[in-house]
Amino acid sequence: MTTTHEHIFIDFVCMYTPPTEASAKHLGEEQVTMENLGWVRYDPFRNIDNLELLDEDLAIYEIALFGRVGGGTIVDATTIGIGRDPLALARVARATGVNIVMGAGYYVDIVHPDDMDGRSEDEITQQIIDELTVGVGNTGVKAGIIGELGCSWPLTDNERKVLRSGARAQQETGAGILIHPGRNPRAPFEILDILEGAGADAGRVIMGHLDRTVFDSDTLLEFAERGSMLEYDPVRLGDVALLAWRERHDPRRPAARLRPIACRARSPFQDRAGAGRVLQVAHLYVRRVRVWPPD
Ligand SMILES: [Zn+2]
Repeated sequence: MTTTHEHIFIDFVCMYTPPTEASAKHLGEEQVTMENLGWVRYDPFRNIDNLELLDEDLAIYEIALFGRVGGGTIVDATTIGIGRDPLALARVARATGVNIVMGAGYYVDIVHPDDMDGRSEDEITQQIIDELTVGVGNTGVKAGIIGELGCSWPLTDNERKVLRSGARAQQETGAGILIHPGRNPRAPFEILDILEGAGADAGRVIMGHLDRTVFDSDTLLEFAERGSMLEYDPVRLGDVALLAWRERHDPRRPAARLRPIACRARSPFQDRAGAGRVLQVAHLYVRRVRVWPPD
């Protein structure tokens, strides 16, 4: 059993959106507890503690649970900018016996390094190739997949540069490319255009987060015709509260996550669809929610 998109470790505070309501302000900086869990689930990005998965012992405990019920492999999609930690991932893999496939490359523009404008496509391509074939820095730990490569909507120039670099690194190494698309139904099309334009093989591209990106079955089937893998990743994020949250942010979204999956099941493309992402925010870790009082 393989899950295709997890974040065993992640420093995702870059996505923190503080509560604006006066009565909720204090909740943003509380630890996740049973007392505030309902509120946290309603919008997982409004609580700082919920956005940090930094505890190695806890990660080992959680990944061992996956292994104990037959889990074999986890793709860890944490890339540069959100806390990728090659040595810690290697330690978790050794401690649990679960294979962990680490990502290479960069997340979205807002977490790019300050000097990203000055980095050339050749340099980024070589960096990704080195991470896949030699290892990250001097750790000796190699990545096994390119991505998730972060894309905003609209795409920034540096994100386009990273996409082209990923495509070129794929030609050199054969590695798959995992994409975090911007939040627009046309984003996956534009991204695949850029990747293919730089020589990527669409059949080895995984378009992530389709559940929150493409809501219309016709558009989904149109995209599926392009030949990439289709990923539905926030599986466990799909609880009722989060559905309500998504609906609040976009009125087109009631049950939107479920419609494309049903569409996929009927489609000729079902063999190219994958699912993942149990772990991204703290409240999804079994042992992370603290009993009252918080420490
Ligand atoms: Zn993502």
